[in-house]
Formats: sequence, C-alpha cells, structure tokens
Amino acid sequence: MVIVMAPGASSDTIDSIVDLVASVGGEAYVTRGVSRTIIGLVGDVQRFESLDLHALPGVADVLRISTPYKLVSRENTAQRSVVRVAGVPIGGDHMTLIAGPCAVETPEQTLEAALMARRAGASLLRGGAYKPRTSPYAFQGLGETGLKILADVRDETGLPIVTEVVDAADVELVASYADMLQIGTRNMQNFALLQAAGEAGKPVLLKRGMSATIEEWLMAAEYIAQRGNLDIVLCERGIRTFEKSTRNTLDISAVPVAQQLSHLPVIVDPSHSGGKRDLVLPLSRAAIAVGADGIIVDVHPAPETALCDGPQALTAADLDELAHLVNTLPPLVGRTLTPVPSAAPAGV
Ligand code: PEP
Ligand code: MN
Repeated sequence: MVIVMAPGASSDTIDSIVDLVASVGGEAYVTRGVSRTIIGLVGDVQRFESLDLHALPGVADVLRISTPYKLVSRENTAQRSVVRVAGVPIGGDHMTLIAGPCAVETPEQTLEAALMARRAGASLLRGGAYKPRTSPYAFQGLGETGLKILADVRDETGLPIVTEVVDAADVELVASYADMLQIGTRNMQNFALLQAAGEAGKPVLLKRGMSATIEEWLMAAEYIAQRGNLDIVLCERGIRTFEKSTRNTLDISAVPVAQQLSHLPVIVDPSHSGGKRDLVLPLSRAAIAVGADGIIVDVHPAPETALCDGPQALTAADLDELAHLVNTLPPLVGRTLTPVPSAAPAGV
C-alpha cells in the first residue's frame, strides 16, 4: 500500500504515521519527492486497513498498488514526474540532451567535449571517471582525478555533470562532485549500490541491465526509491539479443512501456545501443519520435584516440546535424529541448 501525503504535510505528521504503521508490525518507507511525499507500507494489508489511514491528518490518498514495484509505479502517480538535475529538468514537456565523452581522459579533452555538447544543445554533461570495463587491462578511468576535472569543466561551461559510480563504497565521494549519479547496465542489480545511491541525496540515472526485463529494471529503481529518493531517471541503452551487427539491440518499445508502468522519466542512450557513430543519429530520431524524455550521447574531440568507446562517439562534424535534430523533432511530438544553462561567468 502507498499513502500519498497532502502537499505541505509536516514532518511530525509523517513521523506519527510511521510510528502508527510500526505499532501494527508494519514498515513504512518515506520518500520525499519535489512536489509531495509518499509513504510505502510493507506488511499485513488487513492490519493497515484497520488503522483507517484515510482519516489521518495530512493524508491525501491511500492506494493499493497491484504492481510489485510500488513507489515508482504509475499507479500511485498518474502524472509523469519531472526530475531536476541542479535545476535542469528531465521529463514533462522537455526533451533533454545529455552529451559528453564516454570517459574523462584529460582536462583538455573533457573541456573540448563539453563545449561540443553545449554546441549541440546539451544541458547536462556526461563523462565517466570510474569505468566498468569488460577487460581488467582496459582503461579503468581516472577516479577522483576525473571527478575533479569534471567539476572544473562544470565551473567553466555551466553544464551540471552526470557521472557513473560503480561501487557502493564510492557513492559518497562521487556524490560530493556529481550533480547526477549514473548506475550502469552492469550494476543494475547491484542492490547495495542501488541502496547507497538512494541515500546519497542526488538524482540517479539508472541504466537498464543489458539482459534485464522491464519489470526487473523497475524493481531496481524501487530499491533506490525505497531509500527515500524518487529523483530517478530510467535509461534504455540496448539489450542483448542474437543480433551481432549492432553492439546491443535498442529496445525502442521499452520507452513507452516503461512510461506506462512508471511515472519516472525515460531516456535513451543511442551510443551504447548501436555502438557505431553512424547509427547514433538515426537511433536518436527514433528515441525522440517514440516519446523519450531525453537522449544521452557520446561525443569526443578525437574519437580515434579515445581510451573508451571511440567508434560510437560523435565528432565535431556531426554536431550541426545533432543540434538540428534536437531542435526540430521534439516540437513535432509536443516537446521542447531543455535549454542550455547559461555559461558560468568568466573566472568563476
Ligand atoms: C556509459 O554510459 O559510459 C556506460 C558504461 O554505459 P552502459 O552502462 O550502458 O554500458
Ligand atoms: Mn561507454
């Protein structure tokens, strides 16, 4: 069951409900969203019903949710959510472009990629400092040095940063630099990491596991929400199929399906889906046309020297076409491109 609190319900009111639920042997998980607070109840439904929860002060609604995920279910929130990343909206009427290098390599490369991202119309900068690589011999990322580079580039360009965290032990450190924490496909069911990210106080970008069903993906999001954080954006990034001509198969139908099942925004990663530069724009078109709330795209100033995923990175020559796409297609499906934040004043 889920209790939806009236806007402005006080902490004391919420605490008294948590205590009441505990008094009948249940557990209550409080999740504070931007516009309202919801309380998920776990335990014996009949005992909860005996409490006459509807009549309690501050309670707007009490819902029985039929899906196994409760807090992220569309059943408790008919309206789709907007997640704000350092003020930049994802969801609602917006189509948000996130762009940047796969990996942070040097200050120069990161700044150049961020300027490319801005030129294309991106309002958020992506870039990995901790890279989950298939091979232990491949570049693993610069770690905290990479986070510092990202923070400097944010100061210089005004673009808030989205960066991956691969280990629960690093969540606090990464969250101290990042505006949004990314959890990658390989960690979608790393439950300790999901829980730590749920407690970090930053929005989370949750990529779909490459072999995960949509229900498993939403259950992973529920782990984050259950720790009190509903600022979650889902990212479809391609799944494993028998097809070998692309790196992964973009499951485009996952976008409307996840949007029907969950109120969370859903974005698409056309770079990691196709794995090839010349597929990024066609797959971006498909994502925007199907109603994705955003796209996250790899760009690199010199992909031939990139330490990670060069073949799928867009180059400076591709930016005009990307900019044209993100400015012209969203209005045809009732969306507008999230504006690029103003650049930080020089010297700040
Ligand atoms: C990435 O975005 O850098 C990444 C590693 O993606 P994924 O987890 O989808 O493979
Ligand atoms: Mn990558």
